[in-house]
Amino acid sequence: MSTVFSQIVAGEIPARVVYEDETTFAFLDANPLAPGHTLVIPKVEYERLNDVPESEAADLYATIHRLIPAVEDAVGADATTVAFNNGEEAGQEVPHVHCHIVPRFAGDGGGPIHAIAGETPTLDDADLDEIAEEIGSRA
Ligand code: AMP
Repeated sequence: MSTVFSQIVAGEIPARVVYEDETTFAFLDANPLAPGHTLVIPKVEYERLNDVPESEAADLYATIHRLIPAVEDAVGADATTVAFNNGEEAGQEVPHVHCHIVPRFAGDGGGPIHAIAGETPTLDDADLDEIAEEIGSRA
């Protein structure tokens, strides 16, 4: 069973397509948070960013990089929030990697990425040192 986004890529369900190349695809979000809210996806159905092979990850970023100014210019946005919900617990509903490009306007009432946090942790220097070490040893 393919995702709704794979069905869009295959032309099986309609979408307002704004860009396509060999490995990536972009279209307007059906429930826009702002005019011009665009989704950028790899054509292949990877569930998480972690699953995207390096060369396709580079292609995906190249398309995001290309579309950010296109989206901003098209709707006269002052800025954009660019984000992935990477995994169900992070709010990902469609299990096919997608980057949200959400145009932002001065005084639009929206928040920063920091607004996603629930309860924020209390971490001392030792905790931070240990976490940095754990991440660094895996990077
Ligand atoms: P997420 O919560 O990060 O998985 O976001 C999924 C996004 O896909 C939501 O913003 C939806 O509005 C959008 N969406 C779902 N179905 C469609 C569709 N058929 N065409 C365009 N956007 C869609």
